[in-house]
Amino acid sequence: MIEVQQLKKSFGDLEVLKGVNFTVEPGEVVAIIGPSGSGKSTMLRSLIHLEEVNSGSILFQGQALVENGKYANANTIKKITSRMGMVFQHFNLFPHLTVQQNLELAPKAVKKESVADIRKRSEVILNKVGLLDKANVLPANLSGGQKQRVAIARALMLNPDILLFDEPTSALDPELTGEVLRVMQQLAQEKITMVVVTHEMNFARDVADRVIFMDKGEIAESGTPAQIFGNPQLDRTKAFLSRVE
Ligand code: ATP
Ligand code: MG
Repeated sequence: MIEVQQLKKSFGDLEVLKGVNFTVEPGEVVAIIGPSGSGKSTMLRSLIHLEEVNSGSILFQGQALVENGKYANANTIKKITSRMGMVFQHFNLFPHLTVQQNLELAPKAVKKESVADIRKRSEVILNKVGLLDKANVLPANLSGGQKQRVAIARALMLNPDILLFDEPTSALDPELTGEVLRVMQQLAQEKITMVVVTHEMNFARDVADRVIFMDKGEIAESGTPAQIFGNPQLDRTKAFLSRVE
């Protein structure tokens, strides 16, 4: 579904991605772990064109978003990125809109569906994340875990082919992370393709099909959860895991 080849990105003199290669298969859950500053967010943001890389390629369903450092035209970029949903650490909900209005804003702007169909779907999706009773509430009146479930629901409203998560639980109190991780686990069971940057090693171990360990702008090691957690090959992977587990 996604092919990343030789991706390089610098901010000024600082090279943040140093030739990253990986693929994501349809239906796969890929967890990206690694120390702070290793380039995880930059990598994820590059996939959905929130950052532009300096060189390398990103192919989505065979179509190039960027090929050898050259970006596709604006229409193609929009077409590709509209197939992706992203969930951020800090929810990024619209504070002046109710939960249901947050979900319906983008689909209404796209105008591919009737308002009645959008309403039906927003109710189905709110029900799925356990928040149908909060449809008419403003985000300020929700807990962090509820806000993040709204953000996930909002991303689902555009029927994305892939969901990207950047540390979706790291702004939450520990007692609220479970409800968000359970929704993500449910999506994984439905075979929604996901790339998840996370500090939650239990999630990476239990839910991911594959784990990528990023360090200093490169993929140091990747493999199944059993390989990465049970039998890491590199000393720096072992050192990282011993710090976070
Ligand atoms: P964390 O676990 O703390 O979220 P990360 O692995 O997501 O870290 P990135 O946010 O990708 O790391 O940052 C990688 C490096 O790039 C860091 O040194 C960071 O300071 C730098 N960086 C990120 N965004 C910018 C920017 N817009 N301008 C300049 N430097 C940046
Ligand atoms: Mg980050």
